[in-house]
Amino acid sequence: MDETTRLIRAGAPAHSHGPAPVTTVSPMIQKGSTVLLPNAAALYDDTAYVTYGRGGLVAHNALKEGLCALEGACSISLYPSGVAALTGAMLAVLKAGDEILVVDNIYKPTRRFCDEVLGRYGVATRYFDPRLSPEALLDMASPATRLIVLESPGSLTFEMQDLAAIAALARARGILTLADNTWGAGLIYKPLAHGIDISVQALTKYVGGHSDVFMGSAAASDPVIGQLLEDGILNLGWACAPEDAYTMLRGLRTLEVRMTRQGQSGLQIAEWLSQQPEVLQVLHPALPGCPDHDLWARDYSGACGLFGFILTPAPEAAVNALLDELKLFGLGFSWGGFESLAISCDHQLPNRSLLQTYDGPVMRLHIGLESPEDLIEDLRAGLDAFNRARA
Ligand SMILES: *Cc1c(COP(=O)(O)O)cnc(C)c1O
Repeated sequence: MDETTRLIRAGAPAHSHGPAPVTTVSPMIQKGSTVLLPNAAALYDDTAYVTYGRGGLVAHNALKEGLCALEGACSISLYPSGVAALTGAMLAVLKAGDEILVVDNIYKPTRRFCDEVLGRYGVATRYFDPRLSPEALLDMASPATRLIVLESPGSLTFEMQDLAAIAALARARGILTLADNTWGAGLIYKPLAHGIDISVQALTKYVGGHSDVFMGSAAASDPVIGQLLEDGILNLGWACAPEDAYTMLRGLRTLEVRMTRQGQSGLQIAEWLSQQPEVLQVLHPALPGCPDHDLWARDYSGACGLFGFILTPAPEAAVNALLDELKLFGLGFSWGGFESLAISCDHQLPNRSLLQTYDGPVMRLHIGLESPEDLIEDLRAGLDAFNRARA
């Protein structure tokens, strides 16, 4: 079956042909509730029965089935947010005395968790340059290195790593790999197929797609790792509301059409921006001529609507004038929804260990489902305000 068809059918009930029992296209939503078992033996038989309602209800299972089809996974673990998926997956496979190597452009809350939580429990973190070669990265590993944490492209400055090469070298050394694949969403890039052990994404972004639900997932293709992740969920007590699982599955059904459209609009707008005199450089790996385009072209089947650009040097007041002029772009830190968003990034870049300088203010756009021509008009008005403010 084609991907488009699989994402519609996965986790859906078989067609019913009689009047009863009633079968609906979408799963039943149970409340998070006490599960009643049919007999005494079933009380302690959790191989055959769901014995407690924190997970495993109808909507949870339908969503997991859909996400398994999306990620090409044998198991999916669900968490109440993307950050919970990242921290939960790390806690599930790490122990005191381990060391992890984390890409330096990692999502800020992931970095905070490594520094402020893992450190207290005896797990050391070292950061590496996102453009370090796979060989040089593995040269950094020590006998204590248990996990390499990747995010490609990074969600502010869009550097990419060669995940397949890193995964192969790490596996040969007995080191696990985890990729935050929120940009690829499991649709345009499938980390497990490239040898990554744990594929994490903030479902909050593209799979949800409507800015109305938080959730995260960790996907594995090795059942041993899948079991470690599920044990971690049990030990930490994570639970997702069945209502949220239902909402997430509804998003999954239309992921492919939304993401295709948003990826195309994003490229059209990135191309337009690259021709504006106020723009020094566009940071969009799917745009020919941009950094890491070759890696993107080798591994990805499309783009999402999130990318960055660098303005010509200007004071922060001019950057803020640009943002404040925008009427169609909301100012907000999320992405993946149906709506366009914009932020400035310079306040976040100094958090990194290996400071990189950019030749002007770094901006990030998320392109939604609006008409790209309208969005371009909005951006042109913003750039005009930028010019007025720096004149
Ligand atoms: C938003 C985001 C997350 C976290 O997702 P939440 O559901 O908001 O916790 C993780 N990684 C990346 C790259 C993100 O953009």
